[in-house]
Amino acid sequence: MRIAVIPGDGIGGEVVPAVLPALELLGDHFGLGLSYRIFDWGAERWLAERVGLPPDALDLLASDYPAILLGALGDPRIPDMAHGRDILLGLRRGLDLYVNYRPFTPRGGDRTIALFRENTQGLYAGVGGTVSHGRHPAVAIDECVYTRETVEKFLRYCLRTLSESGRERVTLVHKSNAVPHTGRLWQGVFRAELAGFPGLVGSEEYVDSFCYHLVRDPSPYEGIVASNLFGDIVSDIGAALMGGLGLAASASVCPETGCALFEPVHGSAPDIAGRGIANPYAAATAVALMLDHLGHPRAAAPLRRALAAAARTDSATPDLGGHGTTGTFMADVMKRLEKDLA
Ligand code: ATP
Ligand code: MG
Repeated sequence: MRIAVIPGDGIGGEVVPAVLPALELLGDHFGLGLSYRIFDWGAERWLAERVGLPPDALDLLASDYPAILLGALGDPRIPDMAHGRDILLGLRRGLDLYVNYRPFTPRGGDRTIALFRENTQGLYAGVGGTVSHGRHPAVAIDECVYTRETVEKFLRYCLRTLSESGRERVTLVHKSNAVPHTGRLWQGVFRAELAGFPGLVGSEEYVDSFCYHLVRDPSPYEGIVASNLFGDIVSDIGAALMGGLGLAASASVCPETGCALFEPVHGSAPDIAGRGIANPYAAATAVALMLDHLGHPRAAAPLRRALAAAARTDSATPDLGGHGTTGTFMADVMKRLEKDLA
């Protein structure tokens, strides 16, 4: 199985190389036949050559690399993130990665809530425009666009995945009282698709009261499905409930092709880049998600155990209150992994 590795910018270039030895160790130990190739797409290449996602990249990835590990994209020298949008949206749209899966485990609990965000349409569809009078925009429009086909295939995949994972409850997050057209489309498809999964009990919540309830007590939730913008916002709440951006990771998947991209939720964090203190936990969790997705949950489990154990010690990075560095934290994780696998 070939993996494309894009460390990207800022701390992406620190945390991704730091977690690759764990991927290698697990691949060797479990005989997974994994190999990877590093791609230099990111800010430096953009600044030097104005190349974001190279023209042949999508064909190459689609034919040879079913899994992609991405660090982060973002650079203060490129203010509007032109290269990041080119690469990330290029991958998302070009590989049709319409399901974004962001699991989170609220601090103090041991249950992981499965959050699914639709990744390609809604308010991110790119439909809209501006009407200007003189120099200033007088009217600005971003339209929320959903096709029944996309909502159906998205929800069907989410419900199937939730039911296969043994979960019993799923919540649709929407705002159909204020955003009625797409809201009702989602509700209608949700109810219809749920009928195919008798083991799942569905509920529907308005996004505002949902956020309130989630922050006050996440324990009733097992699975969450949401449109693009709501899912984006809720997933940051999820990262906060976990204890920080340094911990959360996501998978963007095209269920039809199996092609998937795994990344930490955090960005390039220019404020701490180059100081060696970036927390590699989220990038390592992206590796665990990748191993799950490739059908090797047996290999992902020891990595998660080692990460959780090391994060509770002083070798944790400063964002978690420890005195570790990216390197010493991963050295601790590797030591625990080797012991666990012995
Ligand atoms: P980008 O534009 O690339 O998203 P950003 O400035 O939004 O970058 P983020 O990466 O989203 O920065 O991070 C937000 C805050 O969280 C920053 O203060 C950053 O230092 C901190 N942070 C993010 N990721 C990590 C990490 N892995 N370890 C430690 N701190 C982190
Ligand atoms: Mg950010």
